[in-house]
Amino acid sequence: MAYLQNLHTHTNFDHGINSPEEIVKKAIEKGFDSIGFSGHAYTFYSDKSYFMSPGKTKEYKKEVGRLKEAYKDKIKIFLGLEFDMYSDTEQDGYDYMIGSCHYIKIGNEYIGIDRDEAHYKNIIEKYFDGDGMKLAKEYFRQTAMLPQFANINILAHFDLITKNIDRASFFDYNSKEYMNSAIEALEILSKDIPVFEVNTGGIVRGYRKTPYPMLNIIKEMKRLGFGAVITSDCHDANFLDAYFGDAKELLKSAGYTEQMILTDNGFKAIEL
Ligand SMILES: [Zn+2]
Ligand SMILES: [Zn+2]
Repeated sequence: MAYLQNLHTHTNFDHGINSPEEIVKKAIEKGFDSIGFSGHAYTFYSDKSYFMSPGKTKEYKKEVGRLKEAYKDKIKIFLGLEFDMYSDTEQDGYDYMIGSCHYIKIGNEYIGIDRDEAHYKNIIEKYFDGDGMKLAKEYFRQTAMLPQFANINILAHFDLITKNIDRASFFDYNSKEYMNSAIEALEILSKDIPVFEVNTGGIVRGYRKTPYPMLNIIKEMKRLGFGAVITSDCHDANFLDAYFGDAKELLKSAGYTEQMILTDNGFKAIEL
């Protein structure tokens, strides 16, 4: 039986455009069985429009809690958090956590990775001697440390570093050097994080033609035993299930026959 769920959902408590209740209503209208909210964790180092302040975080938890109860006969709702690696936010009280590395740390500076090609060009020049491969390797080296900062259930957009591949080429993502640094990180992460996401948000927002991660990475995830969830990294309720078909095809081409869904009793595999 097909089961429709999205666990990566932003709202107007962070930088999504809809209220949680608007999203719940849209999810019901679209035939979703379940939805999980994943507001951006408070981060002391990032741009303020991006995350939930500590006060907003409290309101967010309360509002999602209210909706869980109010809509319990119509849809299953989970309260999650998109945790950013260096965030020192409170981690208690969530049903699940998505782990992201939107920033890497260089010295005392936090450098954004979820940015456009002009930004990439700048940081590669400024911190990596003009060598994009050095940036990619440093990104994976730091991402591998995620479990040291929080108990993460879902690994978010693992190869975020390929954000601009359809616009600009900063390193060869088919090279052995690139793949080896990604695999090294995955081997470490696979010990603590059971599930990764196939994330279609970049296609919706027009800077990617394919979901994260790329096929060559997903094949390695399969080999290492990761489960997979399909998410839209939703910032607009109209795109709650956008490109889920593409994500399924991508998983199938990597050899997956099942996808994971979150239930009250943890992750459960269903047929793709
Ligand atoms: Zn993210
Ligand atoms: Zn997100």
